[in-house]
Amino acid sequence: MEFAELERWVQSHGFRSGQALMLWKRLYGDGVWAHCSDELEGLNKDFLKMLSENAKFKALTLKDILTASDGTRKILFNLEDGSVIETVVIPCNRGRTTVCVSSQVGCAMNCQFCYTGRMGLKKNLSAAEIVEQAVFARRLFSNDIGPITNVVFMGMGEPLHNIHNVIKGVAIMVDDQGLHFSHRKVTISTSGLVPQLKRFLRESNCALAVSLNATTDEVRNWIMPINRKYNLELLLQTLREELFSKHRYKVLFEYVMLAGVNDSIEDAKRLIGLVRGIPCKINLISFNPHSGSRFRPTPEEKMIEFRNILAEAGCVVFLRLSRGDDRMAACGQLGELGDTLAPVLRVPARFQTVV
Ligand code: SF4
Repeated sequence: MEFAELERWVQSHGFRSGQALMLWKRLYGDGVWAHCSDELEGLNKDFLKMLSENAKFKALTLKDILTASDGTRKILFNLEDGSVIETVVIPCNRGRTTVCVSSQVGCAMNCQFCYTGRMGLKKNLSAAEIVEQAVFARRLFSNDIGPITNVVFMGMGEPLHNIHNVIKGVAIMVDDQGLHFSHRKVTISTSGLVPQLKRFLRESNCALAVSLNATTDEVRNWIMPINRKYNLELLLQTLREELFSKHRYKVLFEYVMLAGVNDSIEDAKRLIGLVRGIPCKINLISFNPHSGSRFRPTPEEKMIEFRNILAEAGCVVFLRLSRGDDRMAACGQLGELGDTLAPVLRVPARFQTVV
């Protein structure tokens, strides 16, 4: 529940709204991150009794924590129906720790380089299941790693395909009496669902990342089939209009580099043209291979060359080398494959020798 809903619910059970605020702070605000009524010290006894009879505090059950050699933690959670989701906590030595949350079990987008995409979509997460990942990250690691400062929606799923629950979850995360993440430190990443993207920009002040990964419709139609519905021109024109006229903040373009597919000098030059007029930063990401993947990572020196071409043209560009990949906690590596897999798409003729 968002705070206003909680307040109404508390009042409907005969208690004052001040009790709702105290509860809200115990759940999210004052370092308790309560998971049961026993952890709600200081609350009125009758109120606690009502809560223990009518409320449930936890949406997730901790299943396992895996630690990669670089300190990245992958947390596995069970949902009530037995499905498993994954959340990643990424410490950074500049006083920033990021929690990467999932928004769905699996994903319908079927991006060809992504392990989660191979699972297909199993279900949307509720707002409670989304928020709880950040709460758990703070409970588990605040003492050990330091404050969790940033949230990125880059775990399992396409957040804008579950936009209602994601917007609600984010509203809870940024509430200044609660978890109090800064709007600018919560980033929603999308593969490019254009109508939902417009809605997101209208309804939220949070940061936006767009997974671009190609400079032609030919390649993007293949590796990100959502492009067949909302092509590059439509996606980028939407960003140009919406961001420039209304928001005036920078979108982060993510570009996973796949050897021989999207990493040529021509791609770098086309990318410069594509993002012209859009306030943006570009993250070049090294591909994390996973079992069954047909793609290979671009060598580091080629990534640097690609980066330099963009930088010389005045783009703000970063190289992001892999984090957590020895524990399957890296970008595009989350999930567990079931019996039915999303289809592998036909490789365009000119790439058949590459993958
Ligand atoms: S990259 Fe993101 S949108 Fe694409 S299949 Fe993977 S989880 Fe879904």
